[in-house]
Amino acid sequence: MKLQEFRSKEILARYELPLLPGEIATTAAGAREAAERLGVPVVVKAQVLAGGRGKAGGVKLAATPDEAAARAAEILALRIAGGAVHTLLVTPAVDIAHEYYLGLVLDRSAKAVTIIASAEGGIEIEEVARTNPAAVLRHALHPLDGLQPHDVQAVTEFLAIPDHHRSTFAAIVEGLTAAFFGCDAELAEINPLATTGDGRLLVLDAKIVVDDSALPRHPDIEAMRDLAEEEPAEIAAREAGISFIKLEGTIGCMVNGAGLAMTTMDLVKLAGGEPANFLDIGGGARHERVAAAFRIILSDPNVKAVLINIFGGITRGDEVAHGIVEARAALDRQVPMVVRIVGTNADEAALILEEADLQTAYSLDEAAELAVAAAEGGGAT
Ligand code: GDP
Ligand code: MN
Repeated sequence: MKLQEFRSKEILARYELPLLPGEIATTAAGAREAAERLGVPVVVKAQVLAGGRGKAGGVKLAATPDEAAARAAEILALRIAGGAVHTLLVTPAVDIAHEYYLGLVLDRSAKAVTIIASAEGGIEIEEVARTNPAAVLRHALHPLDGLQPHDVQAVTEFLAIPDHHRSTFAAIVEGLTAAFFGCDAELAEINPLATTGDGRLLVLDAKIVVDDSALPRHPDIEAMRDLAEEEPAEIAAREAGISFIKLEGTIGCMVNGAGLAMTTMDLVKLAGGEPANFLDIGGGARHERVAAAFRIILSDPNVKAVLINIFGGITRGDEVAHGIVEARAALDRQVPMVVRIVGTNADEAALILEEADLQTAYSLDEAAELAVAAAEGGGAT
């Protein structure tokens, strides 16, 4: 679960990181009042989950309360990465001397929580890593010992933190690490961590992503969920008990089991296509869940064909087949579908699908090839 900047800062405040005060506003008038209370100049910032917000015009300076209202109105009218802006953070503007990037991430290839740091902060770290990889430090933490003084020292030296900021910087690294582990994060980043003209070191922007599987033990973070900011398809999937991740391709995939879903996506790629999503309808999926999965997959206008791959174990093939036929009849958008159902009650399933005139396949390779051909206009129904 991604947290907006102001929520991420709320968490970092618990770990005593140096933050500026801020107020939330949802209207231009609200932003004006916030600027009056906080004192000008202020920065007005869109609270969206998408990256690249600054570049999209979602972060603006204002020298007076009236200007704060005008900038707020402009930002509220923006669409950032396709989404509307509902919430603004108003916070005092500072005179930035230097911007650093400091983040912790669960790096699966290093099998370790890794500190990422760069003295070229402010811009996206992916861009720095691409254009100037030597400017980015990746420093893995020991999986059992966690953050040690020598880790802090390595990061401090890489960034050439000025002497008078070193103790504050050490406390920031410690606090960010404690926050990362404390909320079971996948990512906790500060960008920029800025030195100011008046000699302060401050967290100006922050982003935390919490591991979804850990949310049951963080009800306070779950309560920070902002449905207005999340993808409708992801909300629908969570409510239906479906694991869903949207991707960029054209082949919608409906699969039971995470491993089989990954394999299905690989085979779509091998057949020359690109999956539009990862979707695991889970074990014992009943037809309501199949119907929900269809709605979620087809809500993506890029989807040109759907590949359904079900291995019946606890899940009964005929139940899923009924679900597919019923749900398909209720859809307002029809796309070609290829169905592969094997395992428990596969024969019954095949009959149901045949009667409904659905294209079926026995092997997974064949199913993937048919789906890719169908997406390219090659004729499956
Ligand atoms: P992002 O684009 O979504 O990462 O938004 P940020 O909050 O990181 O702001 C983007 C950039 O705006 C920063 O890197 C700064 O260059 C600039 N910025 C943000 N806050 C301030 C501020 O208080 N003063 C000044 N001068 N610039 C700021
Ligand atoms: Mn930023």
